[in-house]
Amino acid sequence: MRILVLEDDLAISAMIRTALDRAGLLAEVEHDGQEGWFRGDTEAFDAAILDLGLPVLDGLTVLKRWRKAGRNLPVLVLTARGNWDERVEGIDAGADDYLTKPFRVEELVARVRALLRRAAGHPAPVIELGDLSLDTRQMRVTREGIAVPLSPQEFRLVSYLMHHRTRVVPQQELTEHLYFGETELDSNAVEVLVRRVRQKLGADSIRTRRGFGYFMGGAAE
Ligand code: CA
Repeated sequence: MRILVLEDDLAISAMIRTALDRAGLLAEVEHDGQEGWFRGDTEAFDAAILDLGLPVLDGLTVLKRWRKAGRNLPVLVLTARGNWDERVEGIDAGADDYLTKPFRVEELVARVRALLRRAAGHPAPVIELGDLSLDTRQMRVTREGIAVPLSPQEFRLVSYLMHHRTRVVPQQELTEHLYFGETELDSNAVEVLVRRVRQKLGADSIRTRRGFGYFMGGAAE
């Protein structure tokens, strides 16, 4: 899952990046509102963390522009302490959640995970699919109750497909959501990753709809 982080404070953005990375999420950081708005408008992200006090273009304007253009990614806004009116304005402008500075980064990550689950229609922290179970808090996949060790990339693939288990996910979407934008990976890399996961979770765990993409579970059949 790719998370767009718009935060101009370098220490805070570095802390967020590290925490998201540890949680198995890919963070892409921008430090000014104009650049961040553009990336959220033109690239595929699964959620955004948006500081309201940003240079060049303020966070509220960024959010309003995204929503007006129909960009519906979940957005968590960061506000300064005491600015309750800013929070109200943020929520009215289409924010899904907010956090007041200073915050514990663990809480931020938990809220982001909840946003991702809710956006995918899974409010519970554990997503079950047949004999597979994905614990989004512990970044763990179990099969018939036994933990299966996965590499970070393998985990991201399984997590993405399980969050979107009601549909077939095109290969192009996977290359966009599983890798950093600067690392251009071809479709071959996704195929290799899928093959590795099948070896660990079973040949039927990820299925191919030829010409369309990949899916897990039977809902997309
Ligand atoms: Ca700021």
